[in-house]
Amino acid sequence: MEKIVSLCKRRGFIFPGSEIYGGMANSWDYGPLGVELKNNIKQAWWKKFVQERGDMVGLDATLVMNPKVWEASGHLKNFTDPLVECKKCHNRFRADHIEGKTCPDCGGELTTAKQFNLMFKTFIGPAEESANVAYFRPETAQAMFVDFRQVLETSRKRIPFGIAQIGKAFRNEITPGNFIFRTREFEQMEIEYFIKENDWEKSFEYWLGEMYDWMNFLGLKKDHLHDMEVPEKERAHYSKRTIDIEYDFLFGKDELYGLAYRTNFDLKNHSTSSGVDLVYTDPESGEKYIPHVIEPTFGVDRSVLAVLTEAYCEEEAPTTKEGETEIRVVLKIPKHIAPIKVAILPLSKKEELSNVAKEIYKEVSRNFFAEYDETQSIGKRYRRQDEIGTPYCVTIDFDSLEDKKVTVRDRDTMEQERIEISELINYLKNKF
Ligand code: ATP
Repeated sequence: MEKIVSLCKRRGFIFPGSEIYGGMANSWDYGPLGVELKNNIKQAWWKKFVQERGDMVGLDATLVMNPKVWEASGHLKNFTDPLVECKKCHNRFRADHIEGKTCPDCGGELTTAKQFNLMFKTFIGPAEESANVAYFRPETAQAMFVDFRQVLETSRKRIPFGIAQIGKAFRNEITPGNFIFRTREFEQMEIEYFIKENDWEKSFEYWLGEMYDWMNFLGLKKDHLHDMEVPEKERAHYSKRTIDIEYDFLFGKDELYGLAYRTNFDLKNHSTSSGVDLVYTDPESGEKYIPHVIEPTFGVDRSVLAVLTEAYCEEEAPTTKEGETEIRVVLKIPKHIAPIKVAILPLSKKEELSNVAKEIYKEVSRNFFAEYDETQSIGKRYRRQDEIGTPYCVTIDFDSLEDKKVTVRDRDTMEQERIEISELINYLKNKF
């Protein structure tokens, strides 16, 4: 874990937020490479679950919604974690995250558990008074219920159909930690899939399969993933069945994603609370009902962490010296989500080479996220590209001026191929 955190900082994937002011506990910023990796994951998710499906539409709602939303959804009352405090060192813990009855830090006696509400409170407008209290959303989901009527009418979808959203969520977590695994501000990719009540079991199984397809796409190995059937007393207040999909993170097995059957709890409550009828009328049979919901939910930051964990490799590799080897660190991120797809590396800074290399870079970067690098030895430049997971390095040497060919090196096999410059874009397109 330490090696991954250090690589992330060193190479500009993820570093501590507000660092020049001494940082802020558990806040992490995505740097130039991190933002590319995260965007690629979000875009691939949107493509798979929205673009490529006729039964899904997207939404991008506000982070701060009318507080009545959270009253109706039950979050103001029930979105709590059990909090215990050590009477000696005053550290606080989530009661369901610790074993035994004493403080894990100092062995002191713990208070009895209190329910602590995780909602992030704020005030709207200049006056800090109770009439102006509002909350940052703790999940993206509620907007899909609150906007259900408008989406249904404008998209003209019929049940079964889903609404998807990607965005930030905020939770005043008692014990954030484990790098980007648990933070107070994070991103979710969520689907609310609206169905008839009788179809819930079938739909639940179907979405579990879709989630596994997605995790396979991210390169997560099946034997690092585990379904955890959440027992009734631990389920969220709205859920009739929940499976937590757990991943073998380096600090232990923990929740990566969740799949929940939310019944018609949310639409029913919003209908009652708002006084707006959220009943669906089947256009063929005329049957009227409040739709039920299957919710596959995916944490973006936990996806990034799982991808980095799975991708991090240290392996023995030959050096430029005959018969010698060294350890190379390589991020074997699936090629389609790697932050930089192609590195353009002229063997020398001489103008005759860099002119050609810059032309190639211009052309390649129109098609792929590319990086141009002419500093340091070629060995060091390869090592850097391996560490940031760049699938292909293109080197331009003096022979390139004569034979109009470049060398393409594959990140995983380290094999090199000579390719005609005029064929390079096609060659790379085929590889991706
Ligand atoms: P946990 O039990 O770990 O607190 P949860 O069961 O409360 O999580 P959900 O409410 O199911 O989580 O949230 C949906 C998804 O959002 C989770 O599967 C996870 O990927 C992500 N997520 C939840 N809380 C956090 C957090 N504090 N930091 C980062 N990601 C989070």
